Amino acid sequence: MQILEYMEAQGHEQLAVWTDPASGLRAFIAIHDTTLGPALGGTRIWPHPTEHAALEDVLRLSRAMTYKSALAELPFGGGKGLIMADARTDKTEAMMRSYGRFVESLAGRYVTTEDVGASTQDIEWIALETKHVLGLDVSHGGSGNPATMTGFGIFQGMRACAEARWGTDSLDGKTVAIQGFGNVATALAGHLTKAGAKLIVTDIDEAKRSQAGELRTATVVAPSEIFGVECDILSPCALGAVLNEKSIPQLRCEVVCGAANNQLKEAADADRLRERGILYAPDYVVNAGGVINLSYERGGAYDAAAALAKTARIHDTVAQVIAIATQQGISTAAAADAMAEERIAAVRSVRRRNHA
Ligand code: NAD
Repeated sequence: MQILEYMEAQGHEQLAVWTDPASGLRAFIAIHDTTLGPALGGTRIWPHPTEHAALEDVLRLSRAMTYKSALAELPFGGGKGLIMADARTDKTEAMMRSYGRFVESLAGRYVTTEDVGASTQDIEWIALETKHVLGLDVSHGGSGNPATMTGFGIFQGMRACAEARWGTDSLDGKTVAIQGFGNVATALAGHLTKAGAKLIVTDIDEAKRSQAGELRTATVVAPSEIFGVECDILSPCALGAVLNEKSIPQLRCEVVCGAANNQLKEAADADRLRERGILYAPDYVVNAGGVINLSYERGGAYDAAAALAKTARIHDTVAQVIAIATQQGISTAAAADAMAEERIAAVRSVRRRNHA
């Protein structure tokens, strides 16, 4: 991949690099688009084998954040941070505070939060060096763990899909298969159980499987079985790229709606699902509850009720995405992208006019 060509083609504004041998920090921050506001996105801590792999990851993830915030109607653009380190062995206070200086150097163009490999403690260290950080612990006036709100948002997305597919948004008696029983899936399972749904759950972690097994509504299966089980809704809540040329033909569901980012391995997988008559709820639309929650922390006073009300609107956004896809004969993924791009283009044109 030629970095600059890739950035131009994908519409990235900026790529920043920071090294600090004293603390061992090597980090990138990618800013995709700031038309709608400062670029918001978590900092991932991951030991990528090469700098190239790390760059590809941070650029790709920052672009997805632009689309997520745009469709959630948030005043944020898209960005992402990446620290090349092993979260289990390499993290120190000095490394995190140095990273905080890096975020601060961008003067508010990028706002960071937690992502894979980062902990609440890391965010607190980062926050000692920059004010451009969200997702602090509740004890520090923050919004805390976003997974609860993300799970609620996925549930709203499922209701909208049910309405489009079965003519009612009730999930009573429906079977939902969940891959990955982590933080988001646990919150989601609570809503589904209350709604009367039956669950089929898997996880690679045995402790998580037995936790799921304690739910009276859940049947636990082996990780290799989850994509072949007969169900109404499949909910990928573990990893990206799980919907692909190999897995899609095995699916025995009518709807896919889950939390994992970048579920489609490639753009053509959206059409593969459509051709099989499976309704796909685009991942970044339904998993926006976490960023919506963060946006209500801005300004110093977290407003949980407002965050919940806005996350409930994911239901209407998904319904709109499905309606546009049906009208135009395109995939739901293409419809969601077009809606996000339309909002960004409209705001960009207003800004251009004001500066003329
Ligand atoms: P988590 O780490 O708490 O849970 C993920 C679970 O998936 C773990 O229990 C893990 O053991 C399991 N898993 C990993 N690989 C698996 C496999 N091959 N088969 C079965 N299980 C597997 O993460 P989370 O916070 O619940 O997030 C779940 C997904 O949603 C992630 O992809 C995350 O990026 C995405 N997401 C999370 C949020 C949030 O608010 N936490 C927001 C948006 C998107």
